[in-house]
Amino acid sequence: MYNNMKKFPFKGKKVIIFDLDGTIVRLSADWNSLKNMIEENYVEIYGERGEFNRISAYLNDIVDKKDEMNLKKFFNIIKRYELENIKETQPIEETLFFIKNKEKFGVEKGTKLAILSLNTRTTILESLKLVSLMEQIDYIIGREDVRKWKPNPEGLFKIQDHYKIKKEEMIFFGDLQNDIQTGERAGIDTFFIDDLINLVKIYKKNRNI
Ligand SMILES: [Mg+2]
Repeated sequence: MYNNMKKFPFKGKKVIIFDLDGTIVRLSADWNSLKNMIEENYVEIYGERGEFNRISAYLNDIVDKKDEMNLKKFFNIIKRYELENIKETQPIEETLFFIKNKEKFGVEKGTKLAILSLNTRTTILESLKLVSLMEQIDYIIGREDVRKWKPNPEGLFKIQDHYKIKKEEMIFFGDLQNDIQTGERAGIDTFFIDDLINLVKIYKKNRNI
């Protein structure tokens, strides 16, 4: 065991949660043009500019308007856009290695893996298929599954609810400050995936893998 392994409190964890994009895979969508597309549709539907800085902020506004019908329309726009480039999806090899060898890193046997992502469910499933992780991932919360998005902790609480576990039994990895904030707001142990990637690199280097 390496000293820096102690950095991740895997002991007693029943569920490890991962973000998707930038954490398990790299999607190749251009998020800025998707945001512009969302803005165009927003103007068309509501007759005013949204001028929000994030896709989630548009969706928050639509949730506030209680416009579930158009919210679904926006989910579809996002899904279609994400799927256009799905074939370009690249695996993040270290994360994949960790997932497939997690017991070697101190993860207890029987620990479940879940995903909390801002991507739509189809994108998540297609990505997992592309990197052959369908069997390893037990539960998914995607864009359509919550009405408050990261950094709001609703998604993490939904996962907690699904497994009926304590916060202390969960650990979350993501690539953005937004993920870290989500975990902090939920009161769940949260780390940057880069820290885990470094750990895997050391592990592989020491074994010439
Ligand atoms: Mg991400």
